[in-house]
Amino acid sequence: MSKLEDIVSLCKRRGFIFPGSDIYGGMAGTWDFGPLGVSLKKKIMDEWWKFFVEDREDTYGIDAAILMNPRTWVASGHTATFADPLVECKECKSRFRADKIAEGINESVTTEEFLNTHTKCPVCGQENWGPIRKFNMMFTTHVGAVLPDDDAETAEKNVAYLRPETAQGIFTNYKNVVDTFYPDLPFGLAQQGKAFRNEISPRDFILRDRECSQMEIEYFVNPNTWEENFETMRELQHEFLEDVIGLPKEKLHELEVPAEDRAHYSKRTIDFMFNYPNGEEELMGLAYRTDFDLQNIARESGKSMEYRDKVTNETFVPHVIEPSIGVERLVLAVLSTAYFEDEINGEKRTVLKLPENLAPYKFCVSPLLKNKPELVEKAKEVYNTLRKKYGNVTWDDSGNIGKRYRKQDEIGTPKCIVVDFDTLEDDTVTIRDRDTTEQIREKIANL
Ligand SMILES: [Zn+2]
Repeated sequence: MSKLEDIVSLCKRRGFIFPGSDIYGGMAGTWDFGPLGVSLKKKIMDEWWKFFVEDREDTYGIDAAILMNPRTWVASGHTATFADPLVECKECKSRFRADKIAEGINESVTTEEFLNTHTKCPVCGQENWGPIRKFNMMFTTHVGAVLPDDDAETAEKNVAYLRPETAQGIFTNYKNVVDTFYPDLPFGLAQQGKAFRNEISPRDFILRDRECSQMEIEYFVNPNTWEENFETMRELQHEFLEDVIGLPKEKLHELEVPAEDRAHYSKRTIDFMFNYPNGEEELMGLAYRTDFDLQNIARESGKSMEYRDKVTNETFVPHVIEPSIGVERLVLAVLSTAYFEDEINGEKRTVLKLPENLAPYKFCVSPLLKNKPELVEKAKEVYNTLRKKYGNVTWDDSGNIGKRYRKQDEIGTPKCIVVDFDTLEDDTVTIRDRDTTEQIREKIANL
């Protein structure tokens, strides 16, 4: 089993993921994707978009603004309840999320319940706590011209939030899409985009960060059919995660969330859990959200969210099945599945066995020797041909051939193609396989 530190280290060393604002000493809970990381992340997001939007007739994509009218968050309940229990150590003033430092309590813990756990401060070791306070995790900002000497009321009027979930950008566009596309039920609206949560203690690399990307679908259904649609969505998630993204079945399992732990509006939720290097964590959620969100929007906006069935003329507010996945969580699941250390001819190597459809580069092309112009020229020819055909092909003529293989193994390039003196004679190249390290000869024309 790979260790999280090894993956973090490889990500930094090879240009997948860097700590955010590294040059200024960092910014907690933020991460920057480097050239290889953004390539991997984008491939994952593109596979999702293709699978759930482009390949389906019943799902439409949207891309809503991150800044939304603050009434969105009043309607959705985020203003009132999107909060974590914050507790402060009176000795050293450190602040923690209470349910993350004490055993056997959840987000709705009271001060008394927390004190009964006799938790010691993880920083100073004392047990001297202030009361539990609710800390709203939405980031606030001001929109328009707000000056430092404006009164509180003026400032308050201009408050906006960085969206804490992409879902509300979908719900608020439900009516727009119904009025322009007249879709039959069931239909889905899908969105990918950034969401922001002011986590009290971000941790575990990109698992719990303050800025993340989400991929969400709101699948609108006739309430009478929610159960069968829930099952369909559930099977589709498995197909996507296992067959398209290549996550192993045995590392993935479903957690049926019991009624007392579900959001109050959800009648059924399944958390898809994944075995990460640091233990089991939620990878994605599948929730039956009923008509909670559309009814909230109808109430707050005064506009009807009713849908009229074209055949029966029956009107009702659709119910919703929501698969929601964090992109960074999926990136980490892919990286930790791909990460292996093994030994080749007595030499230790690190290899990322990324699926071909996700690897940043499909091929690496290189001349056997850098100082032989005829080899370099021929190799460039092969490189340019493959780049035109596949796009994601890299060139490497640094160090010796063994070093190049090690480097390409570490960044997950499935095949290395080497041009040598035989190539000049018979137009064949060596193709070396990342996973088996086996080498074969192949005609250039067959690549
Ligand atoms: Zn303390």
